[in-house]
Amino acid sequence: MLADVHCHLDFPDFEKDLDSVIERAKKAGVVAIITAGLNPETNRKALEIAGRFPIVKAALGIYPQYAAEMSEEAVEKEIAFIKKQKPFAISEIGLDGTYPDMEKQKEVFRQMIALAKELKIPLVVHSRKAEKEVFEVLVSMNAGKVVVHCFNGKLSLAKEMQAAGFFFSIPAIVSHATQFKELVKAINSTHLLTETDAPFLSAVKGEKNEPASVKQTAAEIASIKGVSAEEMEKMIFSNYQKLFMK
Ligand SMILES: [Zn+2]
Repeated sequence: MLADVHCHLDFPDFEKDLDSVIERAKKAGVVAIITAGLNPETNRKALEIAGRFPIVKAALGIYPQYAAEMSEEAVEKEIAFIKKQKPFAISEIGLDGTYPDMEKQKEVFRQMIALAKELKIPLVVHSRKAEKEVFEVLVSMNAGKVVVHCFNGKLSLAKEMQAAGFFFSIPAIVSHATQFKELVKAINSTHLLTETDAPFLSAVKGEKNEPASVKQTAAEIASIKGVSAEEMEKMIFSNYQKLFMK
């Protein structure tokens, strides 16, 4: 059994073929797909898709770019909305050095962490050009259930994150991206998960990614770790259960 802990099924890329995308995922052995909202509009779309397909779970949150753009009032309103929905996870949240207003991003990130703690659900965290700051905020807030999505920072920092109990979701591009191969080598199998970030980050450049590709990602992780694909799938799924089902 497999899980895609992070993707965006609400993107227009999936508008026409979502049924077959879900079917292909099921055929590949995927039993859970976590689709992540980024703002008020996509949070509602994520809920709508999760309502249509039992395999899809809605993760709701405010993405760093929107954290910087939204008014405090709009953020408060969205937090109240998310609380009522009982989402599967808080996602996609974090910090991003390529967007403006790091202080505002941090403030919303802290609010999102507090929300996840209150709801006792995991956080799926985006960190780009702000990995150290992300770690500092998570530690200062005593965040427990954390998935670091698509981590591209220093391996020494990844190890500190692992020591703090965080999990790492590995994207399909691990098949050719050296930094993800190194990350898989550095982190224990007990702390690895699979994601797609679909429609993005396809293993084949220019192609649309989809949840079924976690099958190949798990196989790639298995080959890096020198174990069978079956064994690695089992380990990754038990990691998923440990984090999301308790
Ligand atoms: Zn994403």
